Amino acid sequence: MAFEGLSERLQGAISQVSSGGTITEADLKQMMREIRLALLEADVNFQVVKTFVKSVNERALGSDVLKSLSPAQQVLKIVDEELTALMGGELVPLNFSAQPPTVIMMAGLQGAGKTTTVGKLAKYISEKENKKRPLLVAADVYRPAAIEQLQTIGQQLGFDVYSEGTDADPVRIAEAALNQARLQGNEVVIIDTAGRLHVNEELMAELRNIKAVANPQEILLTVDAMTGQDAVNVAQSFNESLDITGVVITKLDGDTRGGAALSIRSITDKPIKFTGQGEKLDALEPFYPDRMSSRILGMGDMMTLIEKAQQDFDEDEAQKMADKIKDASFDFNDFIAQMDQVNKMGSIKDIIKMIPGLNKLPGVEDFDVSEKDMARVKAIVMSMTPQERTNPDIISQSRRKRIAAGAGQELQAVNQLIKQFNQTRQMMSSASNGKMGNMKKMMNQ
Ligand code: GDP
Repeated sequence: MAFEGLSERLQGAISQVSSGGTITEADLKQMMREIRLALLEADVNFQVVKTFVKSVNERALGSDVLKSLSPAQQVLKIVDEELTALMGGELVPLNFSAQPPTVIMMAGLQGAGKTTTVGKLAKYISEKENKKRPLLVAADVYRPAAIEQLQTIGQQLGFDVYSEGTDADPVRIAEAALNQARLQGNEVVIIDTAGRLHVNEELMAELRNIKAVANPQEILLTVDAMTGQDAVNVAQSFNESLDITGVVITKLDGDTRGGAALSIRSITDKPIKFTGQGEKLDALEPFYPDRMSSRILGMGDMMTLIEKAQQDFDEDEAQKMADKIKDASFDFNDFIAQMDQVNKMGSIKDIIKMIPGLNKLPGVEDFDVSEKDMARVKAIVMSMTPQERTNPDIISQSRRKRIAAGAGQELQAVNQLIKQFNQTRQMMSSASNGKMGNMKKMMNQ
């Protein structure tokens, strides 16, 4: 999970401070040391860490943290606000031209995820921004595989791909693609440019030439989160050469440290506009600094969760489920239906972590469910009688043995599932009974 290491260390540092009594200046100093180490270990740029810790410290000393009866919460609030500011404060949306087509030029080193991101963006823009028929442009003429990859993506999404093969000049391709877009009435044009293994002047010159003819509203740089500080250096170089308009941080799903996401804004002064969170074409999220900060600090991210749910859930089903959670009539049939639905949204563990107050409950780490686990769970539930499914409390020890035999599973697997089911039920009812309210109260202190 993104930011896993940093999350743990930051939350650890903050919770070490007594949550029920005042703290001393020495305690505060120790906590700042821990926060500093946590950020450095997450590969955040040294200068960024220094400035960050300084402002958190000044604010903590300037406020009533030392006299407060809930210093941990106060510090949490300060760190949350400063992290949010560090990542840019607010979402910076895409800039669209009043006179279509809007041109988005993608740039980045080879392997950063540029071509994949072209596809993700096209899908996002057509669905979320309601811009019809984006035209994808294959201007990476040095790698035949890149052109094929873009064509496959275009086919998958049902969008046109403009290509002249590998023998054409990328600047001319961009020009011709724009003409075609005007003729065809494409509202958005996304240009996939060439990458290199390292930043070099030849590449920058080509990109500047494309920029000059395409006159893009957006120049988005894709950087690979897993390369940490290298990603920050790459962003700095591209920005100096090209004056980019924003950054897409890819592979955040595989980056447990998060240094790039935390440093790029303050080093380049350019906003992170999206993050890539997987290989699939729907794994792109707009970058909300406040939500990201909440996630890092273990305060959950209800907004993203709700949006994901709206996107993936059948509305009627969702309403029914919400009612069931409220009146505690959630049963094994719902559990299975829920599993299918939730599975569409991604890993169950990651989803639970977005719910405030639930991410630190014991047992959360055991919630990762693979397809194999799902099949096993389904087999077990199918071996229950309809009565058992709707009224799980009647499942006695002897019934468990029968269910295990019916499903071809060990008794232990049945016990574990029932335990998980009960935990889920409990979590759901605590989530709907005011955990969120408590969190809000705490943050407003
Ligand atoms: P390009 O050379 O910059 O065009 O990179 P590609 O688009 O070909 O991507 C390189 C590899 O990274 C491919 O295997 C992609 O599937 C993968 N990739 C791209 N974005 C993401 C992401 O957000 N998460 C993960 N896990 N993989 C990604």
